[in-house]
Amino acid sequence: MEEVQIIEETAVKKNTVITEMQNNDHEQIVFCQDKASGLKAIIAIHNTTLGPALGGTRMWNYSTEAEALNDVLRLSRGMTFKASISGLNLGGGKAVIIGDSYTQKSEALFRRFGKFVNGLGGKYITAEDVGISPKDMEYVNMETHHVSGLPESLGGSGDPSPVTAYGVFMGMKAAAKKQYGSDSLEGKKILVQGVGHVGETLVKHLTKEGAKVMVSDINLSRLEQVAKKYSAQNVENSDVIFDLDMDIYAPCALGATLNDDTIDRLKCSLIAGAANNQLLDESKHGEMLKQKGILYAPDFLINAGGLINVYREVEGISEKRAIELTEGIYDTTLRTFQTADEQNTTPHMAALHVAKSRIESIAQLKTRS
Ligand code: NAD
Repeated sequence: MEEVQIIEETAVKKNTVITEMQNNDHEQIVFCQDKASGLKAIIAIHNTTLGPALGGTRMWNYSTEAEALNDVLRLSRGMTFKASISGLNLGGGKAVIIGDSYTQKSEALFRRFGKFVNGLGGKYITAEDVGISPKDMEYVNMETHHVSGLPESLGGSGDPSPVTAYGVFMGMKAAAKKQYGSDSLEGKKILVQGVGHVGETLVKHLTKEGAKVMVSDINLSRLEQVAKKYSAQNVENSDVIFDLDMDIYAPCALGATLNDDTIDRLKCSLIAGAANNQLLDESKHGEMLKQKGILYAPDFLINAGGLINVYREVEGISEKRAIELTEGIYDTTLRTFQTADEQNTTPHMAALHVAKSRIESIAQLKTRS
């Protein structure tokens, strides 16, 4: 009896994986494990219509394998649409390594992971993400050339964060143009949540523009350091940030900060930030913001600068061209708002529509001789 139950449970779990893939149309998932090095990883390839699936590898201490799978499926899908709406010839992919990035890293683990990436023959190109350092990627690179975003000293395009921040700044200015009639951010009260690699550079652009910047971070020493450097207002208590009087909220820490609880409390008129997957539920919470009159600049559109920078390595385009493409986020954001108005939908849904349409039209092109 007990045995039957175990088989049934396993079958259910097995079905869940394929069903999850079908739900959002993922092409392929690769589960990787190696007892000797302790590697446990999942590589998800969402869509390769436009080109090889590019997306970083995240190392995180997930509490369950299901949580890791969910994360990699969600993130890889986002990469597909980010590349598409940015006009890049890249597909969407992502990888997660299950483990503690402080205690479980080793050369063998990353080289073993590199072998798995190499086995995909270039269908998936990896890069750094949360929990991964340039040194880790150097080990991956020893086993595969399908690595991007390496340090400049190793022939790569270097840290993508400054370009990401510049793109977010461009997207925010476009959103200000739509919401306030001018793209100047001078005098605007802007809260930057998370002043890490991207957040700090965004603060630099905003203070240069004359905005009244407030900063929040759970890392208090970093918070103090950034606030002092740019004379920004330091908001130490991260619980109160959604109740603050502000014009613009810029999420640059984690995803899902736009949800039932926070949208009710937010008093801003515009949201533009770097974090991935800011809307907990992209349909429901996008609509809630629209109803409240808060203009939301779609995350995967305005945070694409880093991906554009990494694209230099894949397509061999110049640094100058990558900056031009990143500046193009301004016009794409304005066009997206216009499409949203025309289709009476939210900016997020309009951006998804544009991204999906490009993939569909290129897929049709590829079937013709
Ligand atoms: P980072 O790790 O350098 O910085 C994140 C900062 O957020 C850290 O200082 C951390 O202490 C802080 N933080 C975490 N939880 C917080 C909370 N609850 N409240 C306030 N602060 C909190 O990361 P990053 O590279 O700056 O990226 C920021 C975000 O942008 C991430 O969501 C990332 O996925 C996304 N993103 C980054 C890039 C890039 O080029 N780095 C590109 C696209 C998207």
